[in-house]
Amino acid sequence: MADEATFTQLKDKVVEVRHYIHQHPELSDQEFETTKYITNYLTKLGYRIITPEKLNTGVIAEIGQGKPVVGLRSDIDALPIKEATGLPYASVNDGVMHACGHDFHITSLLGAAEVLAQEKDSLKGTIRLVFQPAEETHVGAQEVDAAGGADGIDAIIGFHNKPDLGVGEIGLLPGGLMAAVDQFKVTFKGIGTHAAMPQFGKDPIIALSGTVNAIQTIVSRNENPQKTAVVSITHIEGGSTWNVLPEEAWFEGTVRTFDGEARKTAKKRFYEIVNGQAASYGVDVEIEWIEGPDVVDNDPQLTKWVVDETSKHLTVVKPEPSNAGEDFAYFSQKIPSVFAFVGSHGNSDWHHSDLRLDDEGLIPGVKWYYYNAKRLLAELGKE
Ligand SMILES: [Zn+2]
Ligand SMILES: [Zn+2]
Repeated sequence: MADEATFTQLKDKVVEVRHYIHQHPELSDQEFETTKYITNYLTKLGYRIITPEKLNTGVIAEIGQGKPVVGLRSDIDALPIKEATGLPYASVNDGVMHACGHDFHITSLLGAAEVLAQEKDSLKGTIRLVFQPAEETHVGAQEVDAAGGADGIDAIIGFHNKPDLGVGEIGLLPGGLMAAVDQFKVTFKGIGTHAAMPQFGKDPIIALSGTVNAIQTIVSRNENPQKTAVVSITHIEGGSTWNVLPEEAWFEGTVRTFDGEARKTAKKRFYEIVNGQAASYGVDVEIEWIEGPDVVDNDPQLTKWVVDETSKHLTVVKPEPSNAGEDFAYFSQKIPSVFAFVGSHGNSDWHHSDLRLDDEGLIPGVKWYYYNAKRLLAELGKE
């Protein structure tokens, strides 16, 4: 069993590992060097590398034997952002940055892997490490699943670092922690004409303007006020000059919900309103609807165990659910799971070019994986 000395000894190494990974970020589904690095690291520790061949990037590895199988997940990709932190270990890959802190996740899981490897002969079950690619593009968890990398896992846990939580603070709650994400693009097609002679055209800009406002009634008039829903239009384009009514205008945006009913209602009303508005202005319309990850939904029983275990070693806080999406949801919809927020004491929020995280938060991340992995092996082993 690991004690405080185990973690103290590990500290310098995990900081070094994180700085190396931070310096070498790779974009979604192109994490080839990161994959090699993790594979080598785990091979040296005695893990069985079982990454399916179908997976181009990402690493799946196991230690221990038999049932239950507890999955520990980290994402490994970075973002197309030019780093502006000025850190001595800033990205050497120009225009690519670990601006979501997935380097923090990889390092915490490698640290836990190290401690678990010291106990490999006494583990009561199997630990499966899932280092998944492409979280930012929301396809990596599905890629792992489609390749069979999640087969046979009885329970899976993962976390996202949270810059506004302090070192050692762990945000946990049962149920929805991160939102379901939908994305839309709506294109109005009218008839272009001279700005001074609107009677000869069909104006897509008026149709678009009316629709942008009408859509805001979905949350205020159609959704249950007790449930959370957000509809945001984030990008509008139409026309090219001052004296021509264009043929086309479009907008795009996103819907975030925490509940299947709310998600369905939003989509249904969105289509009704957009089609109705287009008809009323006499223009054609095309709707593209892209379903992103579902809600990250924490299993109530597993969450009880994880909260209990975490509170023995770290500080459990009740987080505000995040309207951001997380493709851990693909695991969470299939396998009983718990997702947490681990305090990374950062200077700004995710996806900022100057995001700097606190290395002091790494050992709490290691502990979170390690202690909960052991606890879930013990709890699930009783069944
Ligand atoms: Zn991100
Ligand atoms: Zn992230």
